[in-house]
Amino acid sequence: MIKRSFLGLAKPRLQYNLVPDSVQELPVPEKVVLMLEEPQNGGSGNGPKVGDSVKTGQRLSASPDGGEYVISSITGTVSDVAPYMGTFGKKCTAITIDAGGQDDWDDTFSKEPTLDTALKFFEYAPGNPSFKAFADPEKSIRTIVISGMDQDLLVTTNQSVVQNEAADIKNGVDALKKMTGVDRIVITVPENLVQQANATGADVKAVSATYPSGLPHMIMKDVLGEVVSAEDSVEDAGTVFMSAEAVASLGAAFETGQLRVTKIVTVVGKDGKTTNVKTRIGTPLKDVLQACNASLNDRDRLILGGPMTGVAAYSEELAVEPGTDGIVVQSESDSAQVTDYPCINCGECVRICPVKIPVNMLVRFLEGRFYEDARAMYDLDCCIECGLCSYVCVSRIPIFQYIKVGKYELGLIETAEAENE
Ligand code: SF4
Ligand code: SF4
Repeated sequence: MIKRSFLGLAKPRLQYNLVPDSVQELPVPEKVVLMLEEPQNGGSGNGPKVGDSVKTGQRLSASPDGGEYVISSITGTVSDVAPYMGTFGKKCTAITIDAGGQDDWDDTFSKEPTLDTALKFFEYAPGNPSFKAFADPEKSIRTIVISGMDQDLLVTTNQSVVQNEAADIKNGVDALKKMTGVDRIVITVPENLVQQANATGADVKAVSATYPSGLPHMIMKDVLGEVVSAEDSVEDAGTVFMSAEAVASLGAAFETGQLRVTKIVTVVGKDGKTTNVKTRIGTPLKDVLQACNASLNDRDRLILGGPMTGVAAYSEELAVEPGTDGIVVQSESDSAQVTDYPCINCGECVRICPVKIPVNMLVRFLEGRFYEDARAMYDLDCCIECGLCSYVCVSRIPIFQYIKVGKYELGLIETAEAENE
């Protein structure tokens, strides 16, 4: 396999939004929808049932010790439990809870900062932290990087947390050290937030305001001075990334004894206006859009995440999830249109790619579904998923989407091979 180094980085041209908006807190919604991932080992029939009463902060799972769970963000009654197929075939159970008045807090959360507590209560925290790498004997985690720089353009969720919640991040840093035993904790922020980040107790590193410097692989290379090889994840290289919002939610939970059940989301309207809102996890997108006066018409596009790496949502009935940092509404005329025009070998994608992948060749193999050749000959695994190639492609080929599908298909092949061994 070819292993591309990050030497000779192209100079990307897009700038992050560095001015976080103030955060507007939304009222408790009438209902929330929580996506419970299907357990790896079965048992999905033992989860919450219609008619069950649930408390705010209650852990809902298919089994008491289940690794997959959600945390109820409101107090109320389960009104629907239905199978749901997410992106790339991810199987979930959609649990709808109707709100029933004031919050009645569940008290099973243990304030003991152990890895067991982290795995049991914080995998569904806002910002979607994962602690599984710390429990994996094959991984040796030496560094935790807190991303105070948002990963996509226009989104300012994590910058807003660094700006307003440095004390909670500091409590989160202390808890992380106790839970994981990792002493080296770094926080990455843009220059304008260095002063606030200094109050978090983490080792502060300023990152460039030019996209995609906030992505994990870029931080590994630019901040930690480590190049992650193609076949490895950042965890394989000994580093776990967590968002500033996730760490602040840990800190707040240990301070107050209540799990945080709200998510900060940057909403980008059709006019490009951005609004930061804090809403209960599971709030339907339509409620959030309504609160931001963001109307949605036929053929408008709704994107979860940011404009470069976000995923199109097919319905405004979908809900805010722990990892939903942004909601972008685009009118049909502003949406990037894709075509089936052929590549004209202009080379724009190769010049902009931060990893110098020969994207013009890669896309030919992906279009033909020659995924293993795309990996072996044209560095598919080296792609850091920044989306810049799609952004510049003059033929409007959906290169980024081809890459995501290619990686997904290869993952399926690997899983099938492992099961047959
Ligand atoms: S998304 Fe495109 S530009 Fe970005 S790293 Fe991957 S191939 Fe390169
Ligand atoms: S930018 Fe598009 S048209 Fe140009 S070389 Fe890359 S894939 Fe081909």
